[in-house]
Amino acid sequence: MDIFKKLDVEKDTHSKNSLEIKEKVKCLIIGSGPAGYTAAIYASRANLNPVLYTGLQMGGQLTTTTDVDNYPGYPGGISGPKMMEDFKRQAERFGADVRFGIATSVDFSGRTHKVTFDDNKVVEADAVIIATGATAKYLGLESETRYAGMGVSACATCDGFFYKGKTVAVVGGGDTAAEEATYLAGLCKKVYLIVRRHELRASKAMQNKVFKSLNIEILWEHQTIDLFGENGVEGATLIKKKGTPEEETVKIKIDGFFLAIGHTPNSDVFKEYLETDQVGYIKTIPGTSKTNVEGVFAAGDVQDPHYRQAVTAAGSGCMAAIDAERYLSELK
Ligand SMILES: Cc1cc2nc3c(=O)[nH]c(=O)nc-3n(C[C@H](O)[C@H](O)[C@H](O)COP(=O)(O)OP(=O)(O)OC[C@H]3O[C@@H](n4cnc5c(N)ncnc54)[C@H](O)[C@@H]3O)c2cc1C
Repeated sequence: MDIFKKLDVEKDTHSKNSLEIKEKVKCLIIGSGPAGYTAAIYASRANLNPVLYTGLQMGGQLTTTTDVDNYPGYPGGISGPKMMEDFKRQAERFGADVRFGIATSVDFSGRTHKVTFDDNKVVEADAVIIATGATAKYLGLESETRYAGMGVSACATCDGFFYKGKTVAVVGGGDTAAEEATYLAGLCKKVYLIVRRHELRASKAMQNKVFKSLNIEILWEHQTIDLFGENGVEGATLIKKKGTPEEETVKIKIDGFFLAIGHTPNSDVFKEYLETDQVGYIKTIPGTSKTNVEGVFAAGDVQDPHYRQAVTAAGSGCMAAIDAERYLSELK
């Protein structure tokens, strides 16, 4: 299929890279999660002829999960990959041009924004919507991968419900870990909070919530080295006081293992031009999707350190498309 069929494509023969292809679009969307596809639905219905590049993970983070039970409109729940296929089909129904490609560099210095995909395709756009998501951090254990979707999760709000009345562990010592442990304590019989240091980094207010929860047991100075179980997580092997004379190996029985050691927003490629917070989340003007560069908008997890849910990502994708449409109408 000719991916450039709808648009004028110009081979840039003067470029250093003879493979470079250039084209101009009105509205470019980067990312194919709930935020990107929702932006594409709204932008195509507003006649912005959006072109959406999917990135490596077509459909985004939800393609890595089995059941999504909290997205409105699916009373019986839905599988993540199926839901994202529905999002894509809905965007394409209104004419969104969905293509595979990874944004490898950007130039937001002029009024027309330039984004290079796969190091050789330059797309110039009047408006750009960035919806590149955020990636949860894992410990790097082989067993985390083995039990992905079978007891290992990086999102208590998403998966906590599946562990109602059961015993789980949360790894981390910051605000997210304290928040997730407290949330799970409201659902689960018991929550182990596995903390590497001898104190929590979380705010005093969050620490107090943890200390007040009678079913949270903090395992100070513990590190997870493995997970075990027949058909899913049944327990974790930990090392207590690693590297000290008191070092010992401990096993705990758990049904679920929640990572809460942070996320990495996928914003590196934009950082030269866009303001981010210290973690890397793109800063937007509160209540809008506008970044510090005119005509560049951000939606979904890449600009959201707080909620990181499919429905909030979709909502902000809608905001970005409406903001882009208004911006473009003023450009005319
Ligand atoms: C295992 C798991 C289970 C979850 N379960 C739920 C749930 O049940 N309910 C819920 O509400 N939320 C759930 N979440 C959270 C939810 O998936 C996210 O909040 C949501 O997907 C964020 O949407 P997004 O569009 O911002 O980004 P993402 O879904 O992360 O999509 C980002 C997109 O950007 C693309 N991309 C990244 N970098 C580039 C680049 N350089 N160039 C081009 N494209 C790029 C990627 O390929 C991807 O398509 C879950 C998350 C995980 C990991």
